[in-house]
Amino acid sequence: MDADIIVIGASPAGLMAARNAALKGANVILIERKEVIGNPTHPANTFFKGMFDRAGETVDQGYVIKNLKGAHIVAPSGGEVVIQSPAYFLDRKKFDEYYAQQVRKAGVDVRTGIEALNVIRSEGIFSLSTNEGILKSKFVIISDGINSRIAGLLGMKPIKYPRDIAWSMEAEVEAPGLGEPDMFEYYVGNHAPGWKSTYSPCGGDRATLGVYVRRHGTDVSSFFDAWVERFKNIKGLNDISVISKSVGGDPIAAIPGEIVAEGVMVTGGSAAQSGIGYAMHAGQMCGDVAADAIAKGNVSATFLSQYRKRWNQEYRNEYYLGRIALEALRKMTDKEIDAMMQVFEGEDLSFIQGNPVVKAMRTGMFMLKKKPSSLLAYRAALRRK
Ligand SMILES: Cc1cc2nc3c(=O)[nH]c(=O)nc-3n(C[C@H](O)[C@H](O)[C@H](O)COP(=O)(O)OP(=O)(O)OC[C@H]3O[C@@H](n4cnc5c(N)ncnc54)[C@H](O)[C@@H]3O)c2cc1C
Repeated sequence: MDADIIVIGASPAGLMAARNAALKGANVILIERKEVIGNPTHPANTFFKGMFDRAGETVDQGYVIKNLKGAHIVAPSGGEVVIQSPAYFLDRKKFDEYYAQQVRKAGVDVRTGIEALNVIRSEGIFSLSTNEGILKSKFVIISDGINSRIAGLLGMKPIKYPRDIAWSMEAEVEAPGLGEPDMFEYYVGNHAPGWKSTYSPCGGDRATLGVYVRRHGTDVSSFFDAWVERFKNIKGLNDISVISKSVGGDPIAAIPGEIVAEGVMVTGGSAAQSGIGYAMHAGQMCGDVAADAIAKGNVSATFLSQYRKRWNQEYRNEYYLGRIALEALRKMTDKEIDAMMQVFEGEDLSFIQGNPVVKAMRTGMFMLKKKPSSLLAYRAALRRK
């Protein structure tokens, strides 16, 4: 064997899985097809502190470009709900370097420029073909991003609703003072069906603009172009320079499917565990369980299902409630979205706390008290669309 565990892909989840497994004593190889981890950079570069706290990670200002105070959620009519919650705009390259260093320090054998091309499992041993030869182990952790090729080769379907991946185009843009505000802005409505368009200021004249769209194909450039025009109108700008564009898929509403099999676990975006902080937490759970399995010499699917159980306990309800909310949003008309959001406009929403089910109940009770008919908006989730 080349290692106890081979981790494929230095995604945020893969880095955490490799780090945690090595810290618990496993002998780990992490392979990443990029020559340098974090370069080229992934477009995901913002998160809320709350997400990171749940992963038990401390934010290091060394990779933060800008500290933000929260987000405005903007309705189609322009009404706003304000969420106060510390957040960060990251230098994603530095962020990835920071965690790659932790992984190396934990004793992981990090091999960059190595791409997994094929995988075969025979008599309990994985043979992983790469551009640099074959690697063998009894255990593989897959974190190669959405539409995981390696999970597919092993016959696994780690994403339950792949057609609900949100396809995105995000661009770094420049205009005078565009980076100065200290709140993100998320716009919901039929101009970005299924999720949102975004404005994320990152200091000075720089910001990013993005659209995240579900069920309209993978090329969302027309939605993006329309969003830039709309944004210019909203902000009264004559011109915005687009510096660079990125595209990709975010499995925000796609829900983890088959993420465990004998000797294999799937984590991060490959397993629809969307969001940098949440993916990292899932990767930690995955790495911890993998190290226990190695220590006990038991890599059976039954033993590994502890990973699934831990994830379910922490996030299952939240992801399912999130999916229901995004499905309702996808099917609502702009008028319905406006009516629903009016209930929350100008309100102090700090009472929405607790576990996801409690949060959903408190939100429901609030809507019932303030405007019972607004709850009917959720009927949209039942529409065929
Ligand atoms: C445009 C966009 C913007 C987003 N913005 C945010 C955001 O601001 N905040 C947030 O929390 N979430 C954001 N997301 C969601 C976010 O992408 C994911 O939640 C998170 O980055 C998880 O990453 P991942 O697991 O998908 O893997 P990735 O980050 O895609 O990592 C997969 C890694 O595996 C490597 N790899 C792939 N195949 C192989 C192979 N065969 N062999 C070796 N290595 C391989 C790749 O090179 C890559 O490094 C965004 C998503 C998109 C598409």
